[in-house]
Amino acid sequence: METTSTLNTYKAVFDQIPAACILLKPDQPNFTIVAVNKQFRSILKWPKDDYIGCAFFDVLFCNPQDAETRQSVEHLSSYFFQVISTGLPVDHGTLILDIKVPDSGKSKRRYWNSITTPILNEKGQVEYLLSCPVDVTEKQELFNRSVKLEKEAKIQRDFYESVFMQSPVGIGIWEGPSFITRMINPALGRFYQRDSEFLIGKPIFETFPESKVLWETIMTSVLESGEPYTGVELAVDLPINGNLQRSYVNFGIVPYYEPDGTMSGVLGVSVDATQQVVLRKELEKSELIMKIAVESAGLGVWDLDLRTRRVFSSSPVWIAGFPIERSIYHLDEFLEHLIPEDRKKLDEALISLTTHFTIVLRALWSDNSLHWIQLTGNILKDENDQAVRVVGTTLDITDRKELEQRKDELLSTVSHELKTPVTSIKAIAQLLERKFEPLGDRITIDLIHKLVNQIKRLTNLIHDLLDASLIEGGKLQLNKNHFLFSELLEEVISDVQRTTNTHQIVFEQRTAIPGFSDKERIRQVVINMLTNAIKYSPKADQVLVSLELRGKCIRCCVEDFGIGIPKEKESQMFERFYRVIDDKHSGFQGIGIGLYISKQIITRLDGKIWFEGKPDGGTIFCFEVPQF
Ligand code: ADP
Repeated sequence: METTSTLNTYKAVFDQIPAACILLKPDQPNFTIVAVNKQFRSILKWPKDDYIGCAFFDVLFCNPQDAETRQSVEHLSSYFFQVISTGLPVDHGTLILDIKVPDSGKSKRRYWNSITTPILNEKGQVEYLLSCPVDVTEKQELFNRSVKLEKEAKIQRDFYESVFMQSPVGIGIWEGPSFITRMINPALGRFYQRDSEFLIGKPIFETFPESKVLWETIMTSVLESGEPYTGVELAVDLPINGNLQRSYVNFGIVPYYEPDGTMSGVLGVSVDATQQVVLRKELEKSELIMKIAVESAGLGVWDLDLRTRRVFSSSPVWIAGFPIERSIYHLDEFLEHLIPEDRKKLDEALISLTTHFTIVLRALWSDNSLHWIQLTGNILKDENDQAVRVVGTTLDITDRKELEQRKDELLSTVSHELKTPVTSIKAIAQLLERKFEPLGDRITIDLIHKLVNQIKRLTNLIHDLLDASLIEGGKLQLNKNHFLFSELLEEVISDVQRTTNTHQIVFEQRTAIPGFSDKERIRQVVINMLTNAIKYSPKADQVLVSLELRGKCIRCCVEDFGIGIPKEKESQMFERFYRVIDDKHSGFQGIGIGLYISKQIITRLDGKIWFEGKPDGGTIFCFEVPQF
């Protein structure tokens, strides 16, 4: 009776223990379950007394196929053997044993700490094994998480460290008022020609005294004020190969804060700006040279933004003679000062989009004085091939123009004065020609022929000079009438053909092409083209002429096989008195006004004139005028 009540008392105590306990028989390998207390059942979610009498390892664990569980089971059974063989308690450490989630068929991972204690009989033999597991899952998971976090933090640390170490920008951290170098990356070490490793852990101005003058005040002020400091293109003289060499840095010094928010020092970042400064200085120098050159040549520079029509002008010379204080204008402000027809000229040049142009404009300045401005422009395009800017120069050529005008007046007067006597000489020479022809005195007749030809040349020259001065004075008269272009060409060709026995002028046009234009002026242009074609092709024997209708225009071209015209001369070819000067063109007689007069005539007739070079030498000159 007493034994039963004592047993019940023990059982009651066993049940009331606030820790989970299980009592097993040492009948290895079964380890039959003898008793489990309430706490054990509750944490393992065991139904009441269900597993009493069962083999411990058969019923306790789920997921026996899981490697970690199997390993834990092996450890636990080896601990049990150890307890049985030594008769001493064993601490198992942390084991993984999953438990079933009731009614769900699922299991949950749990971590356990447990001690197994032997219960001995009076002979000192192990009668039972008492195991008391404590669920340490939360603690373990916390630990696992912290291990994971630590791992991630390390990866991040390594990443930042490699960025820091490999950065091409110099970075360093200095601690405390004596600025002990905590970190310094190789880029910074390289810039200052210092071994970064040597500097670490030591006050920077002791290990690198040369840096004190430059950096101590700045770093101290950042440390004391907590305010960042940035600098641009600071000059730093570094001893390189025994010589002081000037370098430049862009830098920032900021307070350095520890993770807990306390400011412990300063962090400095610096970029080597030497190359940039040197390049800029070189650029500034060449700009200055350019400016001096431009100014001493009396040139103005202008830069027009085609989208906004804003003009930057370095000089008041730019067309209107504005006061020097301003340098940005709207294009219209300039246009207002131009003589209306020259305004059109500038507009046309801007929309023509030829890469380079030179034009002469007349501007009425604010003081009412008239100025001649020679303006050059270069069209600049963007990446989409759209014209966006025009940059060029201006030159006030008023003095030159006045001189030219006086020269023109003189030429015009002289030509006029010469015209009458030369006409009389021509008439007398022709009279003499007619008188001597029937007498058959060949020597005299030849001499008179030569005299007549030279007088013709002189007459043509005088006419050309008179035409040029008429054009300059804007007085060139046009006299339009109906005529057959094809017939005119045949006449001209036969006239010119008579003057040469070296060249054959080939004209295959057979259909009549009527037109309404100034016949005599067109004749003048064609004569000039033909005589040039013959003159500038001394080694050739042919000149080809073509005439055709192109839409509403008549086009006439003269092709020669001569010395050609260099491409770069293209823009000047139709200027007054312009002649190509090179080896090929030397030795030809002329004064360079034929093409100028031709261009003026054709332009006045609303047509255009141009030439094309041929790859195998020779030139094709063409003009086009409206048919009616
Ligand atoms: P000129 O022949 O009297 O010099 P032009 O005004 O007719 O004057 O021609 C101007 C210049 O253009 C010439 O000096 C010559 O250098 C060049 N030129 C004109 N026509 C030709 C041509 N067919 N071939 C080569 N050069 C030419």
